Amino acid sequence: MSLQSLEFKTEINQILDLVVNSLYSHKEVFLRELVSNASDAIDKARYESLTKPELLEGGEAWKIKIVANKEANTLTISDNGIGMDMQTAINELGTIAHSGTKEFVAAIKNRELKDNPELIGQFGVGFYSAFMVADKVMLISRPAGSTDKKGVKWESSAKGTYTVEDVEKETKGTDVILHIKDDEKKFLDEWEIRKIIEKYSDYIEHPIVMEVEREKESQIDKSQKVKVKEEETLNSQKAIWLRDKAEITDEDYNQFYKHISHDFTDPAKIIHYKAEGTSEFTALLYLPSKLPFDIFFKEYKIGPALYVKRVQIMDHCEELIPVYLRFIKGVIDSSDLPLNVSREMLQNNRQVDVIKKSVTKKILDTLLEMKKNDYEKYVIFHKEFGKVLKEGIHFDFSKRENIGELILFASTMVEKDKYRTLDDYIKDMRDGQEHIYYLTATSYDEGIKSPHLETFKKNGYEVLILTDEIDDVIFGAYQYKEKMFKSVIRGDISLDKTEEKEKQKSVEKYKGLLEFIKLQLIDDVKDVRLSGRLTDSPCCLVAEEGQIDPAMERMLKAMGQAVPETKRILEVNPNHPLTETLNIMYEKDKKSKKFENYVAMLYEQALLIEGVKPKDPSAFAKAIADLMVNSSF
Ligand code: ADP
Repeated sequence: MSLQSLEFKTEINQILDLVVNSLYSHKEVFLRELVSNASDAIDKARYESLTKPELLEGGEAWKIKIVANKEANTLTISDNGIGMDMQTAINELGTIAHSGTKEFVAAIKNRELKDNPELIGQFGVGFYSAFMVADKVMLISRPAGSTDKKGVKWESSAKGTYTVEDVEKETKGTDVILHIKDDEKKFLDEWEIRKIIEKYSDYIEHPIVMEVEREKESQIDKSQKVKVKEEETLNSQKAIWLRDKAEITDEDYNQFYKHISHDFTDPAKIIHYKAEGTSEFTALLYLPSKLPFDIFFKEYKIGPALYVKRVQIMDHCEELIPVYLRFIKGVIDSSDLPLNVSREMLQNNRQVDVIKKSVTKKILDTLLEMKKNDYEKYVIFHKEFGKVLKEGIHFDFSKRENIGELILFASTMVEKDKYRTLDDYIKDMRDGQEHIYYLTATSYDEGIKSPHLETFKKNGYEVLILTDEIDDVIFGAYQYKEKMFKSVIRGDISLDKTEEKEKQKSVEKYKGLLEFIKLQLIDDVKDVRLSGRLTDSPCCLVAEEGQIDPAMERMLKAMGQAVPETKRILEVNPNHPLTETLNIMYEKDKKSKKFENYVAMLYEQALLIEGVKPKDPSAFAKAIADLMVNSSF
């Protein structure tokens, strides 16, 4: 097929435009990205060659090669990895917008992020970073193992189109040839390249060699110097996780983290250990500092990279880590698994289970230690990752208590932005208290004002304030150290025994009133009863035991989910003067329009207290206005 000119997909064009026109600093990361791609291509070829040895094509050693040509202004990065045919090149470099592309475009438009080209890697658009330093990029590639030597030449100047053409290529793999921009020529300099590779790519497992020209004594005439081309290896190639901990600097650890995670901030914590015994493996795991933007997306890739005896098997192995620890990044290198291990084999593999158990325990232990010894740092971790971690309470029965120990809670006993643990809570429980009380709310500020807390505050009971969407699902049926969680919004509450007796007396007194109100509000509420949880507010709405939490219900509705209509219970405060007033009106003239209006207003108030709009706001406002006029002096 002769030369074809094709158009980039829209999102790719947007990225190219941003790369060319908006990213100015840290341009050197383009080399890290291209070397990373070359290394991935070799990993793939090596892995596939385990079952298809013909891919080795004679077995030349794996290698990434850099050639800078100052005369031609080109920088070439070559690998002898998996390679691409024409269709793959069209798909991978012109058509497929990688999963994070949209988010990338949105993020980079935000001016603050403009100067952070590290983001490029995070969003999986590494190849295009070449256009930061090159005005033209050519890629010549051919798939490993092809017998006809047919490959593809891909070329673009990032102006909306690219071309592809059939070519013959002798060796397998890919050459990426950058035509360097006039003002970026420093990237052709040997020392500059050396510096960049040492900084960003030292641990790459395959040799990264540079072709250098050296003056040497002539073999024929020792007084003469001649120029000879030599290959020099630039990276130490040491698999960092197999090195002795004492030898590894924080900088080494951090650079490796950035390589595997595509994150641009340093990790918060490093876990590096070797397990021996039933299973032999090395784990190098990282706790990031920031919650990845896509952690709640379906496309989010879970799990550390899996290596078997230094050979990379896959870059994300979800079988090695529980989903609630999916923020952990890293590498696990096993000595026990077979090299040709497949995805299916991983799913029911005893060795894999042993690794997963060990890694889970290690991470939870590390977090616990961090909480004890470095609390401030732990609070920062918890703010970012707490809502992911606590999913484990719901999903991992065997660890629900360990995870409970790690969760921090806002509470009525501490001020805003301070936290309590469940052990703190249990230690300070009131005599005879059986439950761990909690309130769900959309924010701390909203929660702390809730009338549902009144009797708890008055009687000195602590209530935890939960503000994550999933909290009610997780804690609704949770038991920590034999104490059940109980929502203060659900069911009947009676903390104060003497008050409880008082309430019983009032039940008889207000029986008629409550039944009358119930009849009037039959379409809105399920029941009307006296409250054991109010001290200052006249009334509130509560849910029945087992019923969906109202905060949760509102959230689901806001998300557009169909939620079955559930009627709530209206609780009336027996000690509030309004109840007495209503009772007098009821006894005097329960059929009057005025009394009917008051009952309606009672319900509207309960809605307002919850932060919900009254059913008929204008009628409610009018009723208040009338009241004000009538009571004015
Ligand atoms: P990412 O590496 O994050 O997938 P890139 O934009 O860097 O994104 O690369 C896009 C795709 O192009 C890669 O996923 C890979 O399929 C292909 N590719 C890039 N460089 C090479 C290479 N040197 N050899 C083989 N394939 C490559």
